[in-house]
Amino acid sequence: MRNVYVDNAATTPVSQHVLDAMMPYLTDHYGNPSSIYRLGGVARAGIVKARGQVAAALGCTPDEIVFTSCGTESDNWAVLCSAEAAQRQGKHIITSSAEHDAVLSPVKKLSTMGWEVTYLQPDAAGRVPVKDFTEALRSDTILASIMLVNNETGAVNPVNEYSAEIRKRKLKTILHTDAVQGFCKIPFSVQSLGADLISVSAHKIHGPKGAGALYIRRGVKLPQMIYGGSQESGRRAGTEALPAIAGFGEAASHAASEASSTAEEIRKLRDRIIESLKRELPETVFIGEGDSPYIISLSLPGHRSEVLMSALEGEGICVARSAACKKGERSRVLEAMRLSDSVINGALRVSLSRYNTSEEADYFANALVKTSSKIIRNRR
Ligand code: PLP
Repeated sequence: MRNVYVDNAATTPVSQHVLDAMMPYLTDHYGNPSSIYRLGGVARAGIVKARGQVAAALGCTPDEIVFTSCGTESDNWAVLCSAEAAQRQGKHIITSSAEHDAVLSPVKKLSTMGWEVTYLQPDAAGRVPVKDFTEALRSDTILASIMLVNNETGAVNPVNEYSAEIRKRKLKTILHTDAVQGFCKIPFSVQSLGADLISVSAHKIHGPKGAGALYIRRGVKLPQMIYGGSQESGRRAGTEALPAIAGFGEAASHAASEASSTAEEIRKLRDRIIESLKRELPETVFIGEGDSPYIISLSLPGHRSEVLMSALEGEGICVARSAACKKGERSRVLEAMRLSDSVINGALRVSLSRYNTSEEADYFANALVKTSSKIIRNRR
């Protein structure tokens, strides 16, 4: 049986060159980056290199990058601590119902502590309209957190237009964007987005689990979330996860340099799957407008996602129904898009990486056609 992994929005396999970049820090260069002898210096140099690589991929300066343990930590830090920093200025926050829980959970906590939250709804394409953002923005809005690429639908939000609106109205609102699914996948830089805080994560770009980063625009004062030592220029305490950070740097550097050619290849795979399903399984509903080529959100109304997923697993295919960390719960994002119950209940998220092949794309599409008709036959 084949093994076909099309759940790359959940996590990606670590590339060999990333593993090679990590190995020295797991073996010979095991020093603590804070130690002052040579072994510590070698470790420090590894962090400097990785910080430069991640900064280059984002188009910012290295001092604007702080390493964290994951995208979730970056999101929590951005939300909780920018609210803490600006509490005397105002207590209004804007976010969207389509955010990842790494943003929604800390926002919810703030709402129980007296912050007022406006939850914007995605439109039929899964994007948060600029008009709604503009209407929600107030002089006491201290934070707006809207993701760049939605992890379930691949919808890309016009973050540059939100930041332009904040600037136009000369507001002090901090704009945070969770770019975990967009980093090195869709073209953007910190300048093109105009956000103050940007979250990214290593394991979505063939890097290891255990490393993330938060871009903090120079001049933005973000209080610490993790206290202790003076690592990361006193902004994030804790001995640095050097092997993971070195792997993150290598993954970002490689993915950024190949971003446009990889996206082109992925787009071909995406189109191949869509064409084949349109032909062989015309009842397939495609959700959203396919903004990011990496994610195909589709549904087979009348089917149940979990039944499809388990039948596909029987064919060696790993695919999701929504975000991996939801452990198979019904999609809140698709509910926010006001899709019908039958579309939500039969939804699948197919997410691709540069390691998927056209044979795998065909295998997936054929397996979906085969398993869905088998499920229907077995019902009779
Ligand atoms: N934000 C988005 C949009 C994600 O897709 C994910 C992971 O699925 C996260 C945040 C959390 O990132 P991490 O798994 O690195 O904590």
